[in-house]
Amino acid sequence: MMNPSTLAVSCKNLVKTYDTGDQKVIALNGINLDVAMGELLMLVGPSGCGKTTLISVIAGILDQDEGSCELFGENLKNLKSQDKLRFRAKNIGFVFQAFNLLPALTAAENVSIPLLINGVKRAEAERQAVQMLEQVGLGKRSQSMPAQLSGGQQQRVAIARALIHNPRLIVCDEPTSALDHETGNQVMALLKNVALQHDRALVIVTHDARVFSFADRIAEMDDGQIVKVT
Ligand code: ADP
Ligand code: MG
Repeated sequence: MMNPSTLAVSCKNLVKTYDTGDQKVIALNGINLDVAMGELLMLVGPSGCGKTTLISVIAGILDQDEGSCELFGENLKNLKSQDKLRFRAKNIGFVFQAFNLLPALTAAENVSIPLLINGVKRAEAERQAVQMLEQVGLGKRSQSMPAQLSGGQQQRVAIARALIHNPRLIVCDEPTSALDHETGNQVMALLKNVALQHDRALVIVTHDARVFSFADRIAEMDDGQIVKVT
């Protein structure tokens, strides 16, 4: 049992079912998981076992049916929707599996979004966004549109966008899937560096065995449950 005052994430008995009319899928079947501040936790498991569902619940993008999830001692379910949005905008960075960049905005504009939502002025947000893009090796592509970038470059824009506002919790769905080995290592080193800050935490879904060495702990999922933590 971890010390509750140092927990970034505390999930208790999470259950989530998708009801598609003719059939029910139990995506999360009683998940208990703690992530400490300063920790980089990787989540692995076969396709369809519930990884994306779990991180979506943790990040407050999806509501669970049963159980509770606290982030830094705050249960998002107890917040009014406006407060919940504000809490998420300030504290969470999310890298989606499909990147989810806005196609009509430049790379720098995409990366600026979390800052704008948090009230930073446009020129300052743009300046910080270009700096963040430099850190992921895309300083020269800040004015490119997503469609002009390769999959790996788009993925790095998505990672820059998740980090720009210095969130306390970063959640990534397969963040190195489109990256070659060296770029993947650079991105992981950047993410790991964030996790080393004592009050932050990362949860990273990955299939990429090449990056397992960056993890503090690895949680294995199967069939909606966590079957092993090492
Ligand atoms: P993973 O990310 O590990 O591949 P997911 O969390 O995406 O797994 O999915 C877990 C299970 O829930 C799978 O059986 C999947 O088909 C199902 N599922 C995921 N999203 C939906 C949805 N929006 N509607 C219905 N079923 C879904
Ligand atoms: Mg998934």
